[in-house]
Amino acid sequence: MGLKSEFKNIKGTRDILPEEAIRWKKVEDVIRKKMESYNFQEVRFPAFEATDLFRKSTGESTDIVKKEMFTFEDMGGRSLTLKPEGTPSVVRMYLQHGLFNRGALQKFYYIERMFRQERPQKGRYREFRQFGAEVIGSVSAETDAELVKSALDVFKELNIKGIELNINSIGCPRCRKDFVKELKSFLKGKLNGLCEDCNRRYAENPMRILDCKIDRTKLKDAPVPSDFLCDECREHFEDFKKRLDFLKIKFNIDSRLVRGLDYYTKTVFEFVNTSLGSQNELGGGGRYDELIKFMGGEDTPASGYAVGIDRMMLLLPGKDEKISVDVYLVTFDVESDLAGFEILNELRERGFSCDKDPMRRSVKAQFREADRQNAKWVIIIGENEIKRGVVQLKNMNKGKQKEIPMEIDKIVKELKC
Ligand SMILES: [Zn+2]
Ligand SMILES: [Zn+2]
Repeated sequence: MGLKSEFKNIKGTRDILPEEAIRWKKVEDVIRKKMESYNFQEVRFPAFEATDLFRKSTGESTDIVKKEMFTFEDMGGRSLTLKPEGTPSVVRMYLQHGLFNRGALQKFYYIERMFRQERPQKGRYREFRQFGAEVIGSVSAETDAELVKSALDVFKELNIKGIELNINSIGCPRCRKDFVKELKSFLKGKLNGLCEDCNRRYAENPMRILDCKIDRTKLKDAPVPSDFLCDECREHFEDFKKRLDFLKIKFNIDSRLVRGLDYYTKTVFEFVNTSLGSQNELGGGGRYDELIKFMGGEDTPASGYAVGIDRMMLLLPGKDEKISVDVYLVTFDVESDLAGFEILNELRERGFSCDKDPMRRSVKAQFREADRQNAKWVIIIGENEIKRGVVQLKNMNKGKQKEIPMEIDKIVKELKC
């Protein structure tokens, strides 16, 4: 087929064709099953929100807000943004709908599309899918460990190997003050040698400098937040590690792992897979005890994470599966076509996937189509079958054919064995 259209999908987006969609569906089913086993409740939220939601909640100084958002004006001149991450919307929902009235603890999960204007690369798209979970109302390190475990459960169920867990504690606003002071004095005089982003972060959000991939070696002697933890934060971190041990979850402590905004607190973690190369992060999360209050709610602790499904798909073992249909109908004339159509509809009602040729092409063409659709069974009806009140049922895997009465219950019984 040499036909070409001038239209192509936009760079950074992707089409998911039927064979791949089967895999996606399987993955999404596993995510739902696992998340619900932890009593996380599914939420779905809009593709776009007021730009200010992300400015305030994701944070002005983050790369996401600074350079990656798809922001546009609607006809009324309001600034809107396609959601680049899930937490802001979940927090907005929680506050807007008064979900805090439903109990002390709220556990949510989502499977949503996100949008960021990043440079497209392997497993990284501008429109991408994430699953995530957020627990609002628990200050306990048990919650953080439970969140970690829920993501690991998904990886395990999908047979995704080689996932490593990195963890850290970035303290709370109280103990962070001392750390930031120390960090700033360490950085003074070194700023000229650091990258542009680090220089910007020095003023806006110095903790984030630890995260810099470019200046990593220059910063190897920099102070880290875990050296400055207050008693409460240290105990929380110890408790988190103990809980992970209890769950037999292996982890690395990465003292430079930060999520650098004021309302991120204590626990931070990330899931990495070394086989993904430099873009090895699958997802991560942490505690954000100060965010709900900052967004206008009561002082409420919270914790959560997100995982990129597109990247996860790169690690998923096995190949795309073939599409297939349970039953394909092959008929010889108008009368048998009608009789077959009736059987088809009854089978569909009973949950079998069925199809037929709507254009009544030749028998040979119908069989070819049954092959293309990977039909497990073919029901064949001709003049002779109509006369005798039977159908021919062919098992396509075994190649065996059997004559059975033209009765739905008898056909179903046969299909089930
Ligand atoms: Zn602290
Ligand atoms: Zn830098």
